[in-house]
Amino acid sequence: KTILLSVEIIELAGKQCTLSIMNDITERKRLENEFISLVSHELRTPMTSMMGALDLLSSGKLGTLTEQGQQVLSIATNNTERLIRLVNDILDLERMKSGKITMQPTYCDLSLLLTQARETMQTMADRADVQLELESCSVEVFVDPDRILQTLTNLLSNAIKFSDANSKIWLRTKVLNNFCQIEVQDQGRGIPADKLQTIFERFQQVDASDSRKKGGTGLGLTICRHIIEHHGGKIWVESNFGQGSTFYLTLPLSEQKILCL
Ligand code: ADP
Repeated sequence: KTILLSVEIIELAGKQCTLSIMNDITERKRLENEFISLVSHELRTPMTSMMGALDLLSSGKLGTLTEQGQQVLSIATNNTERLIRLVNDILDLERMKSGKITMQPTYCDLSLLLTQARETMQTMADRADVQLELESCSVEVFVDPDRILQTLTNLLSNAIKFSDANSKIWLRTKVLNNFCQIEVQDQGRGIPADKLQTIFERFQQVDASDSRKKGGTGLGLTICRHIIEHHGGKIWVESNFGQGSTFYLTLPLSEQKILCL
């Protein structure tokens, strides 16, 4: 159930009273989500075809563009890619929330997933001149490898996006009692204390210009939280504003075997 709580001050028989109103907005939220999902679905086909047209233009098969034409094409391509990312993220989240996508857990070695995540993000890190450091141990976990990889690459991609050149990012694993903890630590711009919780909510960004400047959708962390909580784990962030952030996630080790520590 989604309850909207509002408090109003009213005057009753000459006296000031507080009036608390509780509205059950579960159905409104469901319809909102359904609408967003429907629109996103309808947008996907025309946007894919727009992307095809832009690719054709940039291939040069239709003639050579002037320098200004290439600049305009690059702006159109970047924005179309951003829209496609947004629509895909919305659909991904809605499918996960409605149970249309289920996790496919298998036994995997977490260190292999971390290595894979680092390899996937290496090109982006090289372009940003950021060093990726991996400190992992071989531990067997029962998880959906694609979804955990999606989570790790999203955290690493954020860490790279919000870091300056010549800085470092650490990807670490620790095994604690009955769970393992993964950390993604950066030396980037950090997150203000009042945003540490909200950034895990839909479309929440620290800076309203982040989506335009950094190409994000504000949905990545919501998807990460959904995936990790679905695995019975937790995700949170600690940060010193201006000095960097560390994202933590835990995965239970109920059925795991520690291969080597
Ligand atoms: P986005 O697609 O915008 O990156 P996310 O849900 O992944 O969406 O992140 C939400 C917001 O949280 C980002 O737009 C940014 O403002 C903030 N954020 C996430 N990771 C970091 C980080 N490592 N350093 C600083 N800010 C971050």
